[in-house]
Amino acid sequence: MKGIYNFSAGPAMLPVDVMQRAQREFLDWQGQGCSVMEMSHRSKAFIEVAQTATDNLRKLLSVPDDYKILFTQGGGRGHFSAIPLNLAGASDTADHLVTGSWSKGAVKEASHYLQADVVGGILTTDDEITVAPQNTWTLNPNAAYFHYCPNETVDGIEINEVPDVGDVPIVADMSSNILSKSIDVSKFGVIYGGAQKNIGPSGLSVVIVHESLLDKARIETPSILNYSLLSQHDSMYNTPPTFAWYLAGLVFEWLLAKGGVEEMEKCNAQKAALLYDAIDNNDFYQNKIAKQHRSRMNVPFQLADPNLDVLFLTESEHAGLKALKGHRMVGGMRASIYNAMPLDGVQALVDFMNDFARRKG
Ligand SMILES: *Cc1c(COP(=O)(O)O)cnc(C)c1O
Repeated sequence: MKGIYNFSAGPAMLPVDVMQRAQREFLDWQGQGCSVMEMSHRSKAFIEVAQTATDNLRKLLSVPDDYKILFTQGGGRGHFSAIPLNLAGASDTADHLVTGSWSKGAVKEASHYLQADVVGGILTTDDEITVAPQNTWTLNPNAAYFHYCPNETVDGIEINEVPDVGDVPIVADMSSNILSKSIDVSKFGVIYGGAQKNIGPSGLSVVIVHESLLDKARIETPSILNYSLLSQHDSMYNTPPTFAWYLAGLVFEWLLAKGGVEEMEKCNAQKAALLYDAIDNNDFYQNKIAKQHRSRMNVPFQLADPNLDVLFLTESEHAGLKALKGHRMVGGMRASIYNAMPLDGVQALVDFMNDFARRKG
């Protein structure tokens, strides 16, 4: 296999060790004579896979006992609808912080089900983009919940401090930064995310929900997205994406063996610093996000001369650096450097960037 580094935003690269283990186990899972993909989700063997994965996720994020962990379908976006349906009535309002394209998408979907109020957003000047400070937000103490996206995958904006919104439950779309660092789960009502960035393959989403929020679902909530029902059935109300769940479990084991999220946090800080330094130290590249809000997972950057974008992409691909094209809404480049991206990959990218700038700058 050709050695490459894959900077895809999602579905994203998975740890090589995990992929190799899945390959070894693919045809004959633990002597069962069949693939884990071919086993009933009701079998003792699969239930153990599912339970171990759930326990390991609880361990990794120190999820308190009064939170349920659900493995569901519907991706990240599925929960843009599941959240209002599970947490609020049609006459309720929800507060939304909008800091980029995903939190904007959440507002659009939520507004089909309730009154979704945008309470704050970003501030943009010619040379900086930042999150508006909390004292400028128009929070409603009676909102059913407060929704935000701690890491905007497209825009490269990360919010590291959990907002203080009083007694209103906080709902966080952590699709692209879950497991990248330690978090205090007890500050949240619901944490959710699609798996394909930092957990495993697409088609699976993870929901961590406080027990007190489990009995509020509207009657019209689809059963397969009803958190309470899913919780009662250990996420097996209907057939779950079993293979994706198994692979997520392998990723959790890999993370534990690596030293857990605390260790990941250190590696991620190191990788991000290396890349942002390369951008900041060279006029050829630019990233306008305010330093305290720069994402450690998704690093968008622009070339001083956008006419060189195509050449940059062709040459980087040639150098084994894959999927650096920026999101179509932002343009330029984007390097996604989730847990599975090794430091060597970021170093290879930085070396390429420096060399490219030397030759074309
Ligand atoms: C990728 C992503 C989503 C959407 O996930 P799907 O599984 O495609 O629905 C939602 N929110 C964030 C922050 C994402 O990065």
